[in-house]
Amino acid sequence: MPSAAADRIADVAAFNDEGERLTISEFGHHGFRIDNGGERWQLSYRLNIRPTEDVPTFYRTSVRGDDYLVLVGSDAWPRFYEDSSPLTDPVDMRPAGRVATARARFQLPGEREEWRVVTSAWDEGDGFHAMRSHPIASVFALGPFAVETAPGAHGLRVARHRDWDIRPDEITRITGDLLISHREAVPPAAGGRPLVLLSPLPPNHGVRGGLRTAGMVRNETLIVYADRQPEVMRGHPGIAEAMAVFLGHELFHLWVPSGVQVTRELSWLSEGWAMHMGRRAAIATGWLAEAGGERRLNQSYRRYLDIGGYRAGSLPEASLGDERSRNLLYLRGELVFQLLEREWLRQPREQSFENALWEALAAAYDGQEPLDAPAVRQILADLVEPTIVRRYVEGQAPLTPAALGLAGR
Ligand SMILES: [Zn+2]
Repeated sequence: MPSAAADRIADVAAFNDEGERLTISEFGHHGFRIDNGGERWQLSYRLNIRPTEDVPTFYRTSVRGDDYLVLVGSDAWPRFYEDSSPLTDPVDMRPAGRVATARARFQLPGEREEWRVVTSAWDEGDGFHAMRSHPIASVFALGPFAVETAPGAHGLRVARHRDWDIRPDEITRITGDLLISHREAVPPAAGGRPLVLLSPLPPNHGVRGGLRTAGMVRNETLIVYADRQPEVMRGHPGIAEAMAVFLGHELFHLWVPSGVQVTRELSWLSEGWAMHMGRRAAIATGWLAEAGGERRLNQSYRRYLDIGGYRAGSLPEASLGDERSRNLLYLRGELVFQLLEREWLRQPREQSFENALWEALAAAYDGQEPLDAPAVRQILADLVEPTIVRRYVEGQAPLTPAALGLAGR
């Protein structure tokens, strides 16, 4: 935890249900211990998120001086525990006592009238927000955001930062279209109130296809950072295509892991599927031309070979491997996903592969224990031939153009 963040927290207080003050002692590195007597308690603190001369950044904030994107729960909460492990426990099972609810109150800087609080928590009163079941899953953003509800998109809210410059007039519609397309292909397990935050990208992020992008999902909130590279023209059609594919991918992460949790050894599945669904939704919504599907698959396969593919090996094992081979894994995941879909379609089907897979995953998932590789291996073997799963998921055979249905190279 950067000490700069700790220095911005003041007036820490804790109260019991009767409103009596509880004793607080400092603990460890910028930590606090609350003497709660094992009872429910409430936490109150003041968080200064104004930029300063020497420390212009805050944890998970944009580095622009006039904008803050803050994940309050992620930052401040851990320091009220001796280590961060309680954050992964259900709220009422945390060792420091039962924190049933949490409320946050914002005082917006008066001199910045255009600022909004954008949050996945719900409004409880003027300036009060109650967090959802788990503080770490509640997202708060504070800054010059315009918040729109995407028409027909099941209550989807899109919060666009004032400086967002990728198709600003269309981006809410693009996002809504992609979400609707996903929902038609794969009905979500639980209907909620999704939120997408669109923010310009802080420096030091990688570059991909003329767009610099980064996305993260917290519960039902998708946070997207993106910047157009200056040399790419504002109206360049490739920008909308790349954005739609990227957004489609990120939006699909609201399904996995929000609807179905999987273990880390299945990151090939969630990433490969997200890549597959992102491209599918971009085509279905007309933001990416359908023509050239085979050419695109060919390109993906070539790229896969170029960056060191054409090796067999278990996808679950590769998912546990090191970060540097992530790109290869995602690409291979997408190719294997397309192969599985192709196998599924060898027989006449009423149902799409993605829909059948989602139903099977949702039926196997109990809402608690993340699905692991053996469970998913069984599900896939039930959908397509077990031999196919052994070959391409367990890695007994390399991916070939013939297996992918590509004409001779
Ligand atoms: Zn992803």
